[in-house]
Amino acid sequence: MWLEHIAEIEPYKPGKPISEVERELGIKGAVKLASNENPISPSPKAVQAILEAVRDINRYPDGSGFYLKKKLSQHLGIGEDFIILGNGSNEIINMIGVAFLSDGDEAIFADPSFDIYRIVTRMSNARGVVVPTRSWKHDLPAMAGKVTDRTRVIFICNPNNPTGTIVTRDEVEEFMEAIPPGILVVFDEAYWEYAPRHLMPDVIKYIMEGRDVIALRTFSKIYGLAGLRIGYGMARPQIIEYLERVRPPFNVSSLAQAAAMAALDDEEHVRRTIEANEEGKRYLYEELGKLGLGYVPTYANFILVDVGRDSREVADMLLKEGVIVRPMKGKISNYIRVTIGLRHENEAFISAIRKVISL
Ligand SMILES: *Cc1c(COP(=O)(O)O)cnc(C)c1O
Repeated sequence: MWLEHIAEIEPYKPGKPISEVERELGIKGAVKLASNENPISPSPKAVQAILEAVRDINRYPDGSGFYLKKKLSQHLGIGEDFIILGNGSNEIINMIGVAFLSDGDEAIFADPSFDIYRIVTRMSNARGVVVPTRSWKHDLPAMAGKVTDRTRVIFICNPNNPTGTIVTRDEVEEFMEAIPPGILVVFDEAYWEYAPRHLMPDVIKYIMEGRDVIALRTFSKIYGLAGLRIGYGMARPQIIEYLERVRPPFNVSSLAQAAAMAALDDEEHVRRTIEANEEGKRYLYEELGKLGLGYVPTYANFILVDVGRDSREVADMLLKEGVIVRPMKGKISNYIRVTIGLRHENEAFISAIRKVISL
């Protein structure tokens, strides 16, 4: 009964929850810098909205996401029919795999990049065409050069997880000129809000021009709603309608919809999050520099750090110090990815890594 291409998939490994690490080590106050979550809190307005919406959870959620799409439409300046909602943007990546990839098709993505592209490609028994990053960035000319008549999807993670690099407006412009119609270009913009607006490509422009483009954003990162699972995609209506065929009904909970609407209005919370991230970034750059550890300058809320030896070992040692980070594999197995946290969390990481590298 097993499908070979499914059995071969190496499952996504989530980081351990804080409570489990604390229980295993018999400690309190463990610090989780492993999943690029908002370290401050969810938006207080979102929390309030959830408390109000909770009274109605005997009812199914609004399966069309009517009010949230309306709000997003105003926020983004695009029509409601250009938007699809997902149980996390991850679910939309899944829908893309189901709807656009099948046996023998090709999907192009970078390495290192978000692991889910590889998984979703294999789920559809399609072939992943992996293009190494160049100076830690998506090598867009090389990716364009890999297009064949089997190419259906190209994933561009911008800013890229785990490197934190971006491809700029001009670079993307040149890339888009080289990509023929009939190939869906997916811009995964999970960290979009952290990156400087003027450098980032205007993906909505491509959508309005009728290009075969979808942009994915999420409430899991800057908006601090990772635990609720909600994200969205933007594309021209024909692509949205097509994806709607594979969207599970009621995929986004009523609490998630209510919280997302409130979070969109909470500009203060977003601003505080960006400020804390910038401050944490400066601190970590300085301290990593003092420790002589190399790192990749980031446009997101995490930093890829060169620990100079097997990152699995280093991550385990950090875990014993109560700091959870993400070890990298493959070509970058000497790197850990560290989420930029609150001041005391960043300090805990620096003091733990100082201890670990001196051992
Ligand atoms: C976190 C993340 C996502 C979004 O995850 P959801 O919680 O499912 O919205 C998507 N892409 C990348 C690159 C991410 O890092």
